[in-house]
Amino acid sequence: RRPARPYRDMVYTRGMAACRHKHSPSIRIMQWNILAQALGEGKDGFIRCPLDALNWQERKYLILEEILTYRPDILCLQEVDHYYDTFQPIMSRLGYHGSFLAKPWSPCLDVEQNNGPDGCALFYRRSRFTLQATAHLRLSAMMLPTNQVAIVQTLKCQLTGQWLCVAVTHLKARSGWERLRSAQGADLLQSLCSITSRGGGSSHSKSAVAGGVPLIVCGDFNAEPSEDVYRRFSSSPLGLNSAYKLLSSDGQTEPAYTTWKIRPSGESCSTLDYIWYTHDALSVDCLLDIPTEEQIGPNRLPSYHYPSDHLSLLCDVSFTEEPHRLM
Ligand code: NDP
Ligand code: CA
Repeated sequence: RRPARPYRDMVYTRGMAACRHKHSPSIRIMQWNILAQALGEGKDGFIRCPLDALNWQERKYLILEEILTYRPDILCLQEVDHYYDTFQPIMSRLGYHGSFLAKPWSPCLDVEQNNGPDGCALFYRRSRFTLQATAHLRLSAMMLPTNQVAIVQTLKCQLTGQWLCVAVTHLKARSGWERLRSAQGADLLQSLCSITSRGGGSSHSKSAVAGGVPLIVCGDFNAEPSEDVYRRFSSSPLGLNSAYKLLSSDGQTEPAYTTWKIRPSGESCSTLDYIWYTHDALSVDCLLDIPTEEQIGPNRLPSYHYPSDHLSLLCDVSFTEEPHRLM
């Protein structure tokens, strides 16, 4: 029998009371690498995960249950290889608009009986936002196209008229590829600079802060906070901060892990997933806590409790500025 869903606390940040405005109800963001079905069954080699726990016909409901438990306004997913047959139709019925971008040479295609390529997916709640612009990016490194992608969408909040730019990406995996990840990050940052400064509308539709549209970047960066690509994001001219640092007592430390798995090569416990936000224009009101080592259990991830080897990240953000002359 499957045990009950592990409970995760919602943790309120200290700045929350000061930063909240009644005109800016918060926006809930979820970031999650959901583990491509073809990779989980055919490539990853999660030796301590029971095969049963990887069965798609059951695992998909655990993924959907987690999404539905929190009902994010914006959902950013990586390793989606069941978009057209599962997430697109189901999320659409639940009131979301979806967009999908496959990796050009998805490793899923090497797996027998695969369900097509994996890629990034971005969903937003249709009742909350209208779509202003979409960019489907293939990331480059030193001018050369790579196998990694990003989706960037510019949205307008129907409640306040405020604009928000949201990006989802999944950078190159594995050690030895730090420089490629860094170059991919630089390419993405450059695209984001141009997309957020363009704005796509009249000047009052953009935030006054730094002149650009406020930005959220969700991703599996496949990089620890010590890596170059992390430094690039935290020191870019876009003024980004990593939301999950706000879980720590000093507000400066990333969680100890966002993925934890056991392969034949050994145990791997690392922080690879992030939600970046424009710190002048947005504030983080609360974050979903990271499960403890005891909750995750001795066999690590994935498991009957947790359908992916990555944990979902979730936070509520709000605009720091009142909307003005927008409607
Ligand atoms: P990545 O190295 O970025 O990894 C792909 C996936 O493998 C990720 O989802 C990653 O998960 C997972 N992964 C990471 N570490 C391991 C591990 N130790 N064992 C098993 N899986 C792991 O892949 P690329 O996008 O660079 O694609 C590589 C594959 O794509 C090749 O195997 C090749 O088949 C194919 N390819 C083909 C090309 C062609 O010209 N035909 C060109 C390029 C690629 P996570 O992010 O969760 O860590
Ligand atoms: Ca993976």
